Amino acid sequence: MQLTDILANSKKTLFSIEILPPLKGKSIQSIFDSIDPLMEYKPAFVDVTYHREEYVYKKRDGGYLEKVSIRKRPGTVGICAAIMNKYPVEAVPHIICGGFTKEETENALIDLHFLGIDNVLALRGDSIKTEAAFIPEPGGHHYAHDLVRQIDEMNQGKYMDDEMKEVEPTSFCIGVAGYPEKHFEAPNMFSDIKWLKAKIDAGANYIVTQMFFDNSKYFEFVKLCRDNGITVPIIPGLKMFTTKKQLTILPKIFHIDIPQDLYEEVLKCKDDKQVKEVGVKWCIQQSKELLKENVPCLHYYTMGSSEATSKVAKEVF
Ligand code: FAD
Repeated sequence: MQLTDILANSKKTLFSIEILPPLKGKSIQSIFDSIDPLMEYKPAFVDVTYHREEYVYKKRDGGYLEKVSIRKRPGTVGICAAIMNKYPVEAVPHIICGGFTKEETENALIDLHFLGIDNVLALRGDSIKTEAAFIPEPGGHHYAHDLVRQIDEMNQGKYMDDEMKEVEPTSFCIGVAGYPEKHFEAPNMFSDIKWLKAKIDAGANYIVTQMFFDNSKYFEFVKLCRDNGITVPIIPGLKMFTTKKQLTILPKIFHIDIPQDLYEEVLKCKDDKQVKEVGVKWCIQQSKELLKENVPCLHYYTMGSSEATSKVAKEVF
């Protein structure tokens, strides 16, 4: 079922989660173990992130260094299919521009269509560590709005080979990313909103936001979107603090601010057990405030640990 239909048919704010594929070589059981305790809160959908290849240098005999490409967390599509097979829930694979030619993207989407997966989150992806800025694959997409357009065209029965006859259109509901605190590469908020609107104009049906710890950032972002003609549902993404290290890691990786009150609270904690308690409490407050504003769904970034999400969901849903 298309996610926008699920949202439209619900009278109350829905609950959803994002999970990461396990590290290569680990069992899919770890995924089921993290979803199982959350099923009682009836998630409307489960997002599964996509992780592209990274390059590492391995020391070989004779002392020379070999550049090796590795994917630490493969399996997004397989995990989505397994989730939909095991639970009554929609799985949403993330698909990215980075590392894909347009043809590879088309073939990946055909796989998803055959598997009965109706929802995708379309993203550009980040640059790989050895690149200063994002470089598309030759014959691949540079920006998420180009990827959205390709998916939307497949939904209209237009594949890359325009001589194909009697093709079956796909039926993807397309989500895209939005940044209440601005995407780090955007020169200003207005240009970021302009390109977000380009994703919607290309055919995207809903937005999921980057995590934020201050709800006013989300409310301002939604207002800015609405003022600029973006009318699709905007789903807030939330994350709980679980370790003290995240005080520096989260702003560095996700380019977000930590409110001073939360910063002080986490700083005071003696260990990560206490940090988790602070993180859960903060997230419950955030969730309850967002709930009062009738947001369409509360989307939680579990990042491999469902325990904290479970505690929040128990209080909120
Ligand atoms: P885009 O929408 O393409 O935007 C990228 C930047 O380019 C922005 O600054 C935008 O303003 C600008 N821009 C867009 N179009 C143009 C244009 N035509 N001309 C000039 N500037 C333009 N990454 C992963 O690798 N795997 C995941 O599973 C994943 N999941 C995510 C889930 C969510 C909810 C979010 C918020 C992010 C996720 N990411 C993931 C990270 C994401 O890939 C990065 O943030 C990436 O840097 C940008 O992706 P985007 O789709 O927002 O890019």
